[in-house]
Amino acid sequence: CGITAYCGNGFALPFLMQGLSKLEYRGYDSAGITILENEGLKTIKCKGRLKNLEDKLQDYHLEGHVGIGHTRWATHGIPSNLNSHPHTNDDETISLVHNGIIENYRELKEELIKKGYQFQSETDSEVVVHLLDEYFEGNLFEATKKVLKRIDGSYALCIVSTLEPDKIIVAKKDSPLIIGKADGAYVAASDIPALLEYTKDVYFLNDYEMAILENEHIEFYNHDGNPITKELVTIPYDL
Ligand code: GLU
Repeated sequence: CGITAYCGNGFALPFLMQGLSKLEYRGYDSAGITILENEGLKTIKCKGRLKNLEDKLQDYHLEGHVGIGHTRWATHGIPSNLNSHPHTNDDETISLVHNGIIENYRELKEELIKKGYQFQSETDSEVVVHLLDEYFEGNLFEATKKVLKRIDGSYALCIVSTLEPDKIIVAKKDSPLIIGKADGAYVAASDIPALLEYTKDVYFLNDYEMAILENEHIEFYNHDGNPITKELVTIPYDL
């Protein structure tokens, strides 16, 4: 399973797809992407190999500069098109990818269904996007902080939204996620090989840390949401 994310001046899709292919060694049963296009979030996903996703993408012309990608290793819900990531909220203003397991998703799902949220998948991950919708009061980062306090388990998360279009919010606990500083872009992925074609300058995100990626700017935060500084490390070798 793996995650890729791109926020920059170039097209997001080529980075996302090459990154997912570099992460294939981690194993997966489905793949998908969300790109922020002018008309809104465009999510394409399907069961099976990356090739299936590539074939599906032939029908689209995606030019957005912000996007997230995912290869899924199913833990909750069979491998299927609907259970593939990214997952979006009901009005498709927020989309996210998740690696890991949300241990308390059953309670959260029940709570959200009572509030009227509609679930499209059988995954544990989908609770996170509806919770974000529930907690959103004008600031996606504030909503993310609140959501992270509600979920137990492991996660690498990347979140995009039309509500705050030029950024990606990322968070990590017990699942890998690294961030790269590329030319005119910040990128993220589960492992170094996915970044190397674009950059060797990386930040290693620790558990309970979050980041907000923008074109030319990045901000890191600790669990309490206070800003922290992190060291940019140059990977000294070719993998
Ligand atoms: N638990 C999530 C699911 O089953 C994410 C699995 C993964 O890490 O790919 O959809």
